[in-house]
Amino acid sequence: MFQIDHLGIAVKSLTAAKSIYEKLGLNVSPEETVEQEKVRLVMIPIGESRVELLESTSEDSTIAKFIAKRGEGLHHICMRVPDLAATVAKLKTDGVRLVSNEIKIGAGGHRYVFVHPQSTAGVLLELVESSHENRP
Ligand code: ZN
Repeated sequence: MFQIDHLGIAVKSLTAAKSIYEKLGLNVSPEETVEQEKVRLVMIPIGESRVELLESTSEDSTIAKFIAKRGEGLHHICMRVPDLAATVAKLKTDGVRLVSNEIKIGAGGHRYVFVHPQSTAGVLLELVESSHENRP
């Protein structure tokens, strides 16, 4: 089943950005650093989906470059798909531009791939095969 797994938002400060969710009474996860992505993040479960707040830990990270260019805001949408390998193969056949041609394995062991904004009307699209916790 296709589902929105999470919405990734690039922020300058996790502390500042998460306060609105805390004021709304939502549970914000503890902050976690993901070294390979050069980000710190929190996850906020909202119904069946989540919001992911991403703060850069390095000036040359993807998130820092995004904020420098476009400011804070929606960075990516993450969609859960039933069969990631089949989905990626289909997209390639259809000429869809992916950020990387190979499926990547994240720190938590989950498999993911990013579809380039050029092929998605401007919003980076992350595809994962199953739910992943606390990961960008
Ligand atoms: Zn994400």
